[in-house]
Amino acid sequence: MSEPLPSLSFYTSADQYGEVLASAYDARAQAGMEDLMSKGYYTGSLGGGIHYIKDAWYYQLVVEHDDGLIVVDAPPTNGQYFLGENIMQAIGELSDKPVTHLIYSHHHRDHIGAAAVFPDDVTIIAQEECAALVESAKDPQRPPATETFKDSYTLSVGGQTLQLDYHGDIHCNGNIFIYHAGEKVLMNIDVIFPGWVPFSSLGMASDLRGFLRGHDVTLEYDFDTFVPGHLTRLGNREDVEIQKEFFQDLVDTSMKYLDDVSPARNDMEAPVTFMSAAEQAGGWSNPWLIFDTYLNGVADLVVDEVLPRWRDRLAGADVFIRSHAWQVVERLRIDA
Ligand SMILES: [Zn+2]
Repeated sequence: MSEPLPSLSFYTSADQYGEVLASAYDARAQAGMEDLMSKGYYTGSLGGGIHYIKDAWYYQLVVEHDDGLIVVDAPPTNGQYFLGENIMQAIGELSDKPVTHLIYSHHHRDHIGAAAVFPDDVTIIAQEECAALVESAKDPQRPPATETFKDSYTLSVGGQTLQLDYHGDIHCNGNIFIYHAGEKVLMNIDVIFPGWVPFSSLGMASDLRGFLRGHDVTLEYDFDTFVPGHLTRLGNREDVEIQKEFFQDLVDTSMKYLDDVSPARNDMEAPVTFMSAAEQAGGWSNPWLIFDTYLNGVADLVVDEVLPRWRDRLAGADVFIRSHAWQVVERLRIDA
């Protein structure tokens, strides 16, 4: 393990994790640390009029065109946590131009819950399923979309073009890809977490198949820079490939230990079965105890095998691998 980086001292676990945590903070993240601590956010440029705003945990994209700004998302945590109005201050530091368009990446409150900070005349674009979810929430902080689309939408305004694509549910209904072909910048939220394992339970994805497919869909784009929703740095193709490999490892290992769905089942004795779980549970009278014992037992086997391979490759693997393993095991079992 290498020396912890001094500028990461705010993150007290840096010395515990060493290199893997350092690799989750690139030069941009290091450079932004001072602003982050003093203002609650920092900004950066990706060239071609594309900027991002970053608070401790969230990303927001700002694309400057001839007559104004296109903004993607409005996380309420910008600024000193839950002070969404700092979004306007941050945008003001990037440009004097007015915000003309707001794009919702998806309906989740933690990414667009400060959307009400923008003036009423801003055009709000969302995929139609996202728009419906926003409307049904009746949340004054998340105004309804004014323009919707089903599969794809090309936003061309003031010399900038953004491609918005919906590829089905890879995280939740209505979660889209935002693509700037000119600068090869791709944004998608809550599937890929550069440098880190995803947030608990597959990043709260609706289903395993969709979540896994999200990795392949991402790689189909020709991009150099990946703008995630989280966590500490921007990403690239390699980050997507590494995360894909992590989940493939979890899937393969889970298949090996599952009691009743693995094609390998005939060739090996499963160390944990419903039978052994029932024995451990003291009989068959409490089915939930048997299920809990069985699923936890299989998840433990998967974690024991997979974690040593990833502890030093993805930050936070030790924190959330148990949750991912449990999810993969159970979702593979029932195909959910
Ligand atoms: Zn989300």
